[in-house]
Amino acid sequence: MSDSLLNKVRIVLVNTSDCRNIGSAARAMKTMGLTELVLVDPIEMPNGQAQALAAGATDVLKNAKVVATLEEAIIDCGLVVGTSARSRTLPWPMLEPRGCGEKLITEAQEYPVALVFGRESSGLTNEELQLCHFHVQIPANPEYSSLNLAMAVQTLSYEVRTSFLAHQQQAFTLNEAEEYPVVDETERFYQHFEEALKATGFIVPSHPGLVMTKLRRLFNRARPDVKELKMMRGILASVERVAKASNADKNTD
Ligand code: SAH
Repeated sequence: MSDSLLNKVRIVLVNTSDCRNIGSAARAMKTMGLTELVLVDPIEMPNGQAQALAAGATDVLKNAKVVATLEEAIIDCGLVVGTSARSRTLPWPMLEPRGCGEKLITEAQEYPVALVFGRESSGLTNEELQLCHFHVQIPANPEYSSLNLAMAVQTLSYEVRTSFLAHQQQAFTLNEAEEYPVVDETERFYQHFEEALKATGFIVPSHPGLVMTKLRRLFNRARPDVKELKMMRGILASVERVAKASNADKNTD
């Protein structure tokens, strides 16, 4: 098994305010064999201080990709795991750090996978967390559970490495049925869903409420594979046809 599997595990840092944390995160990644760093709209671009903290990992820092939105950073990923220092109001499928490492390494055999880290001050927003299939929380001291960003990167990268090493001994393989769509396909499915529900009148554009958020949670939990998502797109197309015909009838009445 080559190190290329580790190159499929992307570390995404969202809106980081202190670039020294970016440097330390790069170092944490390289010690665990990870290379792919993506910075989403960093407040401070990596400078000399970031390089000093990256130490021997300035290559990871130099090769970091900078993008404007989280969606851009994960668009080609089949699995996205968001990190959170605390429980959120909207419960989401959770992973333990160990299980998170296993899942990332297992699925990295099929497509790029991502581990997403939030802002130092406020973590990830609810919208960003909803773009993730799972959330992972390092089970820290409940009285003070917020790790420094780079230390959280270190802890979870270590779990990825541990799973990678175990994987070299004995391959965990993906079930053939589990061929999951990448974020781009899933996002297009949600857009299609929303349009269909507007066409039927289930979603009222002026009062959309939480319908799409709840549907995202439901489909994230069910995690449809590629064939199931295709079937859902077909169902939505048929719903749209009926809705269009019925709306056209109403207009001619
Ligand atoms: N005050 C923020 C914490 C931000 S810590 C909040 O309440 O959400 C900065 C980032 O480090 C977090 O967004 C997360 O990516 C990571 N992190 C810190 N502690 C963590 C923990 N216990 N489990 C998982 N990730 C953690």
